[in-house]
Amino acid sequence: MQRGSSERELAAGWEAEAVAVAEAPAAAAVAAAAEPVGVDSGAAGEPERKAPEEQSKERARAQPRAAEEGDALVTPRPPPTLPLAKPQPARVRGLCPHRKPRSKGRGCRRSSGRSADEYCSQRRVTVDSSKARTSLDALKISIRQLKWKEFPFGRRLPCDIYWHGVSFHDNDIFSGQVNKFPGMTEMVRKITLSRAVRIMQNLFPEEYNFYPRSWILPDEFQLFVAQVRMVKDGDPSWKPTFIVKPDSGCQGDGIYLIKDPSDIRLAGTLQSRPAVVQEYICKPLLIDKLKFDIRLYVLLKSLDPLEIYIAKDGLSRFCTEPYQEPSPKNLHHTFMHLTNYSLNIHSGNFVHSDSTSTGSKRTFSSILCRLSSKGVDIKKVWSDIISLVIKTVIALTPELKVFYQSDIPAGRPGPTCFQILGFDILLMKNLKPILLEVNANPSMRIEHEQELSPGVFENVPSLVDEEVKVAVIRDTLRLMDPLKNKRENHFPDIYVDRKHRFPPVSDRMSSSVLQLSKLFIARSQKLKQPAVKEEPSDSEPASASDANPNPEAHLPSICLKQVFPKYAKQFNYLRLVDRMANLFIRFLGIKGTMKLGPTGFRTFIRNCKLSSSSLSMAAVDILYIDITRRWNSMTLDQRDSGMCLQGFVEAFFYLAQRKFKMLPLHEQVASLVDLCEYHLSLLDEKRLVCGRSGTSGGRAPDSGTPQEAAASAPLAQGTPPACTNSAHKVSNSRHALS
Ligand code: ADP
Repeated sequence: MQRGSSERELAAGWEAEAVAVAEAPAAAAVAAAAEPVGVDSGAAGEPERKAPEEQSKERARAQPRAAEEGDALVTPRPPPTLPLAKPQPARVRGLCPHRKPRSKGRGCRRSSGRSADEYCSQRRVTVDSSKARTSLDALKISIRQLKWKEFPFGRRLPCDIYWHGVSFHDNDIFSGQVNKFPGMTEMVRKITLSRAVRIMQNLFPEEYNFYPRSWILPDEFQLFVAQVRMVKDGDPSWKPTFIVKPDSGCQGDGIYLIKDPSDIRLAGTLQSRPAVVQEYICKPLLIDKLKFDIRLYVLLKSLDPLEIYIAKDGLSRFCTEPYQEPSPKNLHHTFMHLTNYSLNIHSGNFVHSDSTSTGSKRTFSSILCRLSSKGVDIKKVWSDIISLVIKTVIALTPELKVFYQSDIPAGRPGPTCFQILGFDILLMKNLKPILLEVNANPSMRIEHEQELSPGVFENVPSLVDEEVKVAVIRDTLRLMDPLKNKRENHFPDIYVDRKHRFPPVSDRMSSSVLQLSKLFIARSQKLKQPAVKEEPSDSEPASASDANPNPEAHLPSICLKQVFPKYAKQFNYLRLVDRMANLFIRFLGIKGTMKLGPTGFRTFIRNCKLSSSSLSMAAVDILYIDITRRWNSMTLDQRDSGMCLQGFVEAFFYLAQRKFKMLPLHEQVASLVDLCEYHLSLLDEKRLVCGRSGTSGGRAPDSGTPQEAAASAPLAQGTPPACTNSAHKVSNSRHALS
């Protein structure tokens, strides 16, 4: 654990590559743009498809979102018209998924008599794109570049990869990989994200100071008023500005700035529309006197073990009115303060550009290049951004795990998940990155609306969007390629370090805009060709020419760079709540639930030996009731009764503070997690011995009642006792999430 180790250096390795990417395309622009970078005071966007409602199978957990795929600027792609037979679990099992050959010699063998390995090395990866919605165009280009097989209307047989436009629940899937995690939409909503980050801020205030101080409305309105008054009393010269953001809003919808808590529009709206009120960052970095923000694409490849990738390039979205620090006169100037593309596109000053380094939407690499030419240490900027991304994902993962085990309980058929997230980041004047929000469904559209003549709009290709987004989708697919391992094992010599064999992205990016435009027009024309409708009877092997053992030979190097576990050593100490979530999940007992019942909580206390003369079981019951009641009144999800993860975390903090009085909070909590894991590992060992000797009768030795034994004994639920020295690992092994 290298706490506090120089984050400045942690990413140096690949930042250099990012810088190279930045420098090539933007070099010409930098030379052309003689204007100095306004690094003094000083955000822009694109339409987001915030998922409407995760159509939860049994629990419609999330509240309806205001704007979805159906937003004015986001024209939904019509759903496929052909009837799509749902994959049947029984059939899925009866098939012969190449991932899991069923029986030697028969399972994966094709009628041609080829061996399983031969078949897998030649057949093409199949992608169901029937639910891709607005990401369809970029997905199609990606699939074509990879020479994979697209099923635009779905498929009777299972596909390797399912691409969903909105949520995990867009379709019922029982195998393969899907590009959404259950619960992600819910987790990144403004209130949930603020809560998750706040827990981390309580534990590690310094490490999580990249997220503006936030209050949840209406619950924390009084707290907000009191805290602001307190600070103002102490410093009368403090003239803060706050930004109010509706929880269910997106694309800048319903957002407004205020100078005083009394300006909050309480009447009627907050009860029906909860919101977050946040410190407004008054001194953003400006370029060309304009505020801008950064959209970075982050791939959560796996939850457990945690694997995070960051795209080397992103988008910068510019405001369309020169920035001034907030004053009562300009508070309502949307084009000055909000960087959303969906808003600024309606400004007369919005500049569409075919260049990636000019206009109201540019590549992030072009911004970095420009900053670099002004002497800014962009390696430091990159490493701060990487650090922000890793810390934010660490804040999100505990509850995501709870969602995951609920939707895909261990031992039941289900897909594995990955997801591209859109991180919206603001650079402050001092270059510190600030997290604005995380999007579960970042827009992957590669065209924009243009007014051809007054009132006549047409969708035209957007070079900047295609440049960045196709690379992100294509390379996500490459990283998720289920056949890659097989191919690599089969043709190891072909998979030599490709860096040496193909020119870096930067070289190719230096081609003229004209060439890019030609390429783009050619691609868009291809896109307009009718989709392939006939469905082959089975996974179609690649043709002779496609049977290249290294089908990626024609592709650029992958634009997504791993940052976790690469930098795990520097960040693992932050994963305390994650370990608490493992304990929570262990005691949930019933599969599919997300809340801990009173028996589960008591069993947790008993098995971890937390009760004592000063903490009776009656006091434990009261603690449970108090916290559960409060959290249930705050959260809108009343369907499951019991203690939610945040309630459990609160109870855990309370217990840790009682037991380890003199330590700072994060050490108190870390000590208690260690203690719990230690007692549970002893218990697991004991169970293992009892299980072997056959004397336990399947009952946990420390459990009072059979019911408690069931609630507390994940090992008794069919999971092999894989680990005896760490409950954490036991829990992890139980939930091999990806
Ligand atoms: P939405 O989901 O509606 O886009 P965001 O949280 O992204 O909501 O906020 C919209 C815009 O408001 C951002 O793109 C940014 O320009 C601006 N913004 C949001 N929060 C802050 C903040 N704390 N300080 C400064 N600007 C902010």
